[in-house]
Amino acid sequence: MQEALNRIDAVRAKYKEVYGKAPDVVVRAPGRVNLIGEHTDYNDGFVLPIAIDRDVIIAASKEDEAVLKMHSLNFESSSICPLAKIEKDPANPWSNYIRGVAAVLEEKGISLGGVAMAIEGNVPLGSGLSSSAALEVAAGMAFQALFGFNMGGPDMALLAQRAENSFVGVNCGIMDQFISRLGAKNHALFVDCRTLEYSLVPLPESGVSVIVANTMKKRGLVDSEYNTRRKQCEDATAILGRQIPQVAALRDVSVADFEKYSRFLPPDIRVRAEHVVTENDRVLKSVEVLKSGDMEAFGVLLNQSHESLRDLYQVSCRELDIMVEAAQSIPGVLGSRMTGAGFGGCTVSLVKDDAVSAFLKDVSARYESRTGIKPQMYVCKPESGAGVVGAD
Ligand code: ADP
Ligand code: MG
Repeated sequence: MQEALNRIDAVRAKYKEVYGKAPDVVVRAPGRVNLIGEHTDYNDGFVLPIAIDRDVIIAASKEDEAVLKMHSLNFESSSICPLAKIEKDPANPWSNYIRGVAAVLEEKGISLGGVAMAIEGNVPLGSGLSSSAALEVAAGMAFQALFGFNMGGPDMALLAQRAENSFVGVNCGIMDQFISRLGAKNHALFVDCRTLEYSLVPLPESGVSVIVANTMKKRGLVDSEYNTRRKQCEDATAILGRQIPQVAALRDVSVADFEKYSRFLPPDIRVRAEHVVTENDRVLKSVEVLKSGDMEAFGVLLNQSHESLRDLYQVSCRELDIMVEAAQSIPGVLGSRMTGAGFGGCTVSLVKDDAVSAFLKDVSARYESRTGIKPQMYVCKPESGAGVVGAD
């Protein structure tokens, strides 16, 4: 809490130093981690992320001139562009996420006036906690706070995603922006990636922590393997669709139907589909056990998710498996699995509070001794989604 206040003060102070006046608004938007529901999004399925207690803060005011002025505290650098011609700034790629949001707003017919911003974040960059979505959503919130246009949470998330897809040029799904905008303290967010219907799912206020462990393994092969998996899911959908009416995506296949009809699938495709079908089922089960407060049962589902990603979907790697095994061997760890696309990146573990320090020490040591790589670990609390944090 104190740290958050200090950061807000620091952004305000920097704003004043750079632009010579106090900001009119300060907004924030958090990073995220997906608890369960991996490789389900592009199969029209379910995900269950939390917003975390790390965020991007933006202090902003209107400017008379029709320009977008941005100053990054993290990069100690400024970038400026005319609103009439929003283009990428190759020297300040961090500014492209904000430029993209402004460009997409203008494209939608929401005209902006001049703005000056100061930006600071403590979501680690490029570590799998989605600092980019936090930055885009914070930018969207800043524009909304200043110009007062009417836009609901899901539309703001879609806008931020569009900025990343079409302006920055990264083909991400909707989950990251959705949870950054719509997350809530002590809750996970169940999202139906087909309909974008969502609901909050309670998490305990104390007693358990979420630990994200970064393997620091650079992701190799991820694009080609990802494309192969997507194609295999489409093939499975087509084959199962001939047996079961109204199957438009693997999300429409129940576990019972899968058991009945999986014999029609070639073995390499069958295992991929089995992961997706059972993972969707695990997300639905997770929602149920969390509603009843059964964290042990939720932990078991996390462990099963990892097994399925490792053995059926085959998107894990040695480093992720070592990190998960090390985590699961610590008493007080309820469950652990890889999170994100795979082939590197992070694991997510559900850890009783009294086991957090043992986790940080022992899992790090065990991982480093087996891989020679020093991991990074982040203890996270489920925090609220984006909002205005102060107005002068
Ligand atoms: P991830 O979203 O997994 O953290 P990305 O590569 O998608 O990684 O996005 C990271 C990029 O987002 C950074 O390189 C930077 O350009 C931008 N970014 C994130 N946080 C900030 C910040 N606090 N200030 C400026 N730019 C940021
Ligand atoms: Mg990103």
